[in-house]
Amino acid sequence: PSETGRVLSIQSHTVQGYVGNKAAVFPLQLLGYDVDPINSVQFSNHTGYPTFKGQVLNGQQLWDLIEGLEANDLLYYTHLLTGYIGSVSFLDTILKVIDKLRSVNPKLVYEDQPPQQFKIVIPKIPAYFTGTGDLTTALLLGWSNKYPDDLDRASELAVSSLQALLHRTVNDYKSVGFDPQSSSLEIRLIQSKDDICNPQVNYKAEKY
Ligand code: PLP
Repeated sequence: PSETGRVLSIQSHTVQGYVGNKAAVFPLQLLGYDVDPINSVQFSNHTGYPTFKGQVLNGQQLWDLIEGLEANDLLYYTHLLTGYIGSVSFLDTILKVIDKLRSVNPKLVYEDQPPQQFKIVIPKIPAYFTGTGDLTTALLLGWSNKYPDDLDRASELAVSSLQALLHRTVNDYKSVGFDPQSSSLEIRLIQSKDDICNPQVNYKAEKY
């Protein structure tokens, strides 16, 4: 399978660390997608740290970007991915963005519900991470679009990439003498690029 697409990814940006667009754009690019990021906020670091500073976009600022793209016929996207949103007006405007993108491409994929039921059993890792939710949705988008009729397979690939990355993250922290349970860990995203491009499927989906 080689089907890819053009993704508009509306998520947070952090200067340091990998959450939001920093966690989603690189893996999707590695899987062959063109990804256009809009940063809903620009923060120094994720909000789990004792403090953070930065800027929050409002709805009008989001709409300005959409109008700029539209004026140049650049609003064709196959997928829309959204994450952390920092203001109510921005969230309201996302609804307008969905309508606008659908008017350009009626087949735009935003939310996909699993028509099949299955589970993947994974061992609990005694550590706490941030960015994993955003990475998971990016990997699921990336793989389910490549295997549209085999969500089991897509999920196995996404979960296997994520697990390899989490184990690498824990091991890297441990190797410098850091207790992985003492605070939240920044994921080792760049170092895990091979696990994203060519995941080894060690976790299988079971039907129920
Ligand atoms: N974006 C920002 C700005 C955050 O502070 C966080 C979590 O702290 C996230 C996104 C999402 O993290 P996760 O993918 O772990 O849900």
